[in-house]
Amino acid sequence: MPVVLSVDFGANHPYLRLMALLPILEVPDPRLKTISTPVETFDDDLKKLVDDMFETMYAAPGIGLAAIQVGVPKRLLVIDLQDEGPDGEAVRNPRIFVNPEILDPSEDHSVYNEGCLSVPDQYAEVERPATVRARWQDLDGQVHEEAMEGMMATCLQHEMDHLEGILFIDHLSRLKRQMVLKKIEKARKMGGGHVHNEHCRHD
Ligand SMILES: [Zn+2]
Repeated sequence: MPVVLSVDFGANHPYLRLMALLPILEVPDPRLKTISTPVETFDDDLKKLVDDMFETMYAAPGIGLAAIQVGVPKRLLVIDLQDEGPDGEAVRNPRIFVNPEILDPSEDHSVYNEGCLSVPDQYAEVERPATVRARWQDLDGQVHEEAMEGMMATCLQHEMDHLEGILFIDHLSRLKRQMVLKKIEKARKMGGGHVHNEHCRHD
């Protein structure tokens, strides 16, 4: 597994050397149903948690991670949809959302094929408001507000669902959800909990 040290905090970031991969909770772990509580303290422990969440997300690899997915029931999530560089290469764009809120969800909806690090190797189409206004705090407690659209709007709503104990499969019919859970259970029995696909990185 390559070492991931490219979260863009700059070379002097004091936590860089202390980052750690955290275990990701997977269905049907009941902790994923926890309603997370607001972050009230903006301290070094919060920054360290965010660093670890980014490292864990990049290593998985994934594009979003809520704190409860690593067992911390706080209203905190990280997202990186990556930008495209001048030569078409992927450039990291790490974003941190503390105590996020959704304002003005649009009436028009969009559909994305969603996946989740807590629902390994399973994907399904989910319909959500196409655009939202989001309000959140940064690591210093400063409040930000921004209009979100496209994949960012969807990803933010997916991650915010985690803060309410909701997974993307909870948006599916009961039958589809049970099929997904059965597939995961079967994969675990056969292969020790991991279905191999094109996203795998094995050395
Ligand atoms: Zn998820």
